[in-house]
Amino acid sequence: MAVINSIADREQDMKAWRHLLHQHPETSYEEVWTSDFIAAKLQSFGIETHRGMGKTGVVGVLRGIGNGTSAIGLRADMDALPMQEMNEFAHASKTPGRMHACGHDGHSTMLLGAAQYLAETRNFDGTVYFIFQPAEEGGNGGEAMIKDGLFDQFDMKTVWGMHNWPGMDVGKIGVHSGACMAAADFFEMRIAGSGGHAAIPDLAIDPIPCGAAIVQSLQSIVSRRVPALEPAVVSVTIFESGSAFNVIPGSARLGGTARSFSPDVRKFLEESIYEIAIATAKAYDCEIEIDWQSGYPPTVNHAEESARAAAVAANVLGADNIITDLQPSMGAEDFAYMLAEKPGSYIWLGAGPAKNGAMLHNDRYDFNDDILATGASYWARLVESELPK
Ligand SMILES: [Zn+2]
Ligand SMILES: [Zn+2]
Repeated sequence: MAVINSIADREQDMKAWRHLLHQHPETSYEEVWTSDFIAAKLQSFGIETHRGMGKTGVVGVLRGIGNGTSAIGLRADMDALPMQEMNEFAHASKTPGRMHACGHDGHSTMLLGAAQYLAETRNFDGTVYFIFQPAEEGGNGGEAMIKDGLFDQFDMKTVWGMHNWPGMDVGKIGVHSGACMAAADFFEMRIAGSGGHAAIPDLAIDPIPCGAAIVQSLQSIVSRRVPALEPAVVSVTIFESGSAFNVIPGSARLGGTARSFSPDVRKFLEESIYEIAIATAKAYDCEIEIDWQSGYPPTVNHAEESARAAAVAANVLGADNIITDLQPSMGAEDFAYMLAEKPGSYIWLGAGPAKNGAMLHNDRYDFNDDILATGASYWARLVESELPK
């Protein structure tokens, strides 16, 4: 068993769809052209199509042969990123400041390819829901679809997800059992001192040394406070202040992210960041305001579904090409919300070496079209295996 022949035969079509999607990148909840394109494709395959769930989300409903009542959901994301593409090939983004730099154009295409094949063959008994979600890149689009009744309106037993994975060889699939991606929280701090002349610091309250001390001290949370075997990251990614060589600024702004898996560590990171920032600001005679934004929870695969996903992947690519002992990623994933409600599994699809050194979210990244047929075949075989005739 391998890539499904009739899916391989439609590879050129899928490539054309993928390139069109790549040319029309749209960010969180603005996926209007994209959802129109996806809905039109689903309808052209004869698939019942529902629009507007989670604002721009699309759900396709396909029933197999027989009277089976079981149902599963396959999910793809369809949003792009607010960044300028630097590629110059023919299918590069036509919208300045917008780019499919995470491969969601490929994810949507693979699910469309599988949908077309399944609509033609209906070699399964039950119902498959094709879920195209908006706003994966930090916009909680998966959660928005759930809040809009995704699981109430469409009663599915399990949910399944996939992400292309540059750095993993083409022809390989990674399946985690348990935690796969981290929880991601974000913080922003505004440090207020009082500005003055750079030559007379004793008459000012300088927020910059205060900010620098906070950045340094935050780095002690993971290295000195979190148990060594617990995964955690604290990264300060924003430090803005000042505008002149000879002026002590009145304020500084810091921002960053905290990543973790365990709920206890997650809470501890938040508490420690507050504690250190407030105490350090006080030591430097500065005022501080802190905003905390809880992001995606950890993405946790369910053990039984992951074992079944690995078996289906082995059916497509051969058992030797399925990696089940991968480390999880400290990245985060909106599919976490769906996996928190329903059993399922989220796999990594090997995408080969990062092209031109371009990893996900790089301005020269491009989805690898060589894996379109593999991804679509995995989806199709998963449906045929989960909903047997
Ligand atoms: Zn991304
Ligand atoms: Zn992504």
